[in-house]
Amino acid sequence: MLNKIIIAIDGTSSTGKSTIAKRLAKRLKYVYIDSGAMYRALTFYAIQKEYISKNHFDTNKLINDLSNIYIDFKESKETNKFEVHLNGMSVEKHIRSLSVSNLVSKVATIGKVRKQMVKVQHSLGLNKGIVMDGRDIGTVVFPNAELKFYLDASSDLRAKRRFKELIDSNHDISYNEVLSNINLRDGQDMSRKNSPLTVASDSIVINTDDISLDQLENKLLSHVTPLLSKK
Ligand code: C5P
Repeated sequence: MLNKIIIAIDGTSSTGKSTIAKRLAKRLKYVYIDSGAMYRALTFYAIQKEYISKNHFDTNKLINDLSNIYIDFKESKETNKFEVHLNGMSVEKHIRSLSVSNLVSKVATIGKVRKQMVKVQHSLGLNKGIVMDGRDIGTVVFPNAELKFYLDASSDLRAKRRFKELIDSNHDISYNEVLSNINLRDGQDMSRKNSPLTVASDSIVINTDDISLDQLENKLLSHVTPLLSKK
């Protein structure tokens, strides 16, 4: 029987982590977990409750409410994809908006928020056989993951890709808004005190500027395959 492993994919915003993580999971028949979707779902909740807005963030109110917020993933019968659920409801359709994107990195700085998210992420990795993407997966969530990748690319290319994705899914957004959001989040994610985005010392770093998705998938698989048959 093949070994089941944990594959961590970290990196800056919009480097194609989720696209390649989904592909890899499908190929390996693993579960794909989008850890960013969890932070986005929580941010969506905080916006609805008016704990956070552009010029205001009541961290205490959010922290005091954390025990009432339950985030998990369920497979959608319509799309057969795992969708993030907030207190039992799929919020997948709401979490990619610019209002969530512009506030999520602020919410993700809070240590107690991260602690709760990491708890859920650990439970999802108990049986291994997962590909999880995010910012701290290889450094904090699964420091012993069998395989860690760190993806990066130029901010212009990342913004172009993300802009196309958002336009294709009917979001009303400009290229400049996407670019400044990417730069804003990278800055906040790298400079925060709790679990900042850093390259794990045992990560395989890949720049995705000049590489097609197929090439990237083959590259990742060339690292995965030998680990699956190891005793
Ligand atoms: O992956 P995605 O770009 O959707 O993540 C949204 C935001 O969630 C990131 O910019 C970051 O602030 C936060 N995040 C995090 N740790 C993770 C995943 C995401 O802090 N593991």
